[in-house]
Amino acid sequence: MDAIGVLMMCPMSNYLEQELDNRFKLFRYWAQPKQRDFLADHAASIRAVVGNATAGADAELIASLPKLEIVSCFSVGLDKVDLIKCKEKGIRVTNTPDVLTDDVADLAIGLILAVLRRICECDKYVRRGAWKLGDFKLTTKFSGKRVGIIGLGRIGLAVAERAEAFDCPISYYSRSKKGNTNYTYYGSVVELASNSDILVVACALTPETTHIVNRQVIDALGPKGILINIGRGPHIDEAEMVSALVEGRLGGAGLDVFEKEPEVPEQLFGLENVVLLPHVGSGTEETRKAMADLVLGNLEAHFSSKPLLTPVV
Ligand code: NAP
Repeated sequence: MDAIGVLMMCPMSNYLEQELDNRFKLFRYWAQPKQRDFLADHAASIRAVVGNATAGADAELIASLPKLEIVSCFSVGLDKVDLIKCKEKGIRVTNTPDVLTDDVADLAIGLILAVLRRICECDKYVRRGAWKLGDFKLTTKFSGKRVGIIGLGRIGLAVAERAEAFDCPISYYSRSKKGNTNYTYYGSVVELASNSDILVVACALTPETTHIVNRQVIDALGPKGILINIGRGPHIDEAEMVSALVEGRLGGAGLDVFEKEPEVPEQLFGLENVVLLPHVGSGTEETRKAMADLVLGNLEAHFSSKPLLTPVV
């Protein structure tokens, strides 16, 4: 398969990059000083694109690659791929579901605990020697709090199962009520937020879910409510969230993702009720290796005319 051109959009995994280089003719898009010229020169030999949560295949890229057959994503979220264009042109699309679910759900619980128990602040308190001058202030209990989840998919369900172990009543919002759980369903995000102490965003990013957490939802969650985002940044109206946090209308936030990564609103830096992570939901050695193997497995299956491992389109 070493004659098959594969375009990797940005650095995402050294192991994946190495294996793609070994098995295919790898083009590194980010390393091209003149990307338009590069595409004009090599479009005819590129049959696959490997993207992730940062860079995928938009309509412009797809239009410039007439031989494109497959987009293999190193992510479960497909918001950086124009799925409609792919369907129109018969381009296959794969992602990396399931293998990252545990890590992202673990991190959601970590964020909840970090925000409520002020773990990051406590750590700074010890390091700067403040403990010697007095005890840390009291924080907020997690066990038993009402957890609301937007999007009860693979990750949402895994968060729910973990929160159940903390004796938390679980409720959720998604486009339809799920028949396979006894969790409480609310037909609107505002209703869900009104009945939650902690609101976790875990749905897919689509035009319908962009700013699914708006001012109304934030107000419904209220000054004691905690917002956790392990989905995608644009799920939350970030400007509204920042104002609510600064003005004390929202109790706290644990955020792994942001609207304009890697830019993070600086007003958040001084708030101790906020924990900020650099989009590391699936970022463990074990999971990134499993994701890379799925990307490679899908490409090899496609180019050997075998069934794809995790097809989306
Ligand atoms: P999934 O199993 O496909 O679940 C997606 C959920 O989104 C489903 O429950 C779906 O519920 C819900 N949804 C879709 N459209 C909706 C709408 N209009 N309103 C409300 N809910 C809607 O995907 P997953 O594996 O759990 O992953 C979920 C998302 O997590 C990914 O798309 C990705 O963006 C994000 N993620 C983030 C990280 C990170 O590093 N922070 C890592 C992995 C994934 P219904 O179909 O019932 O509406």
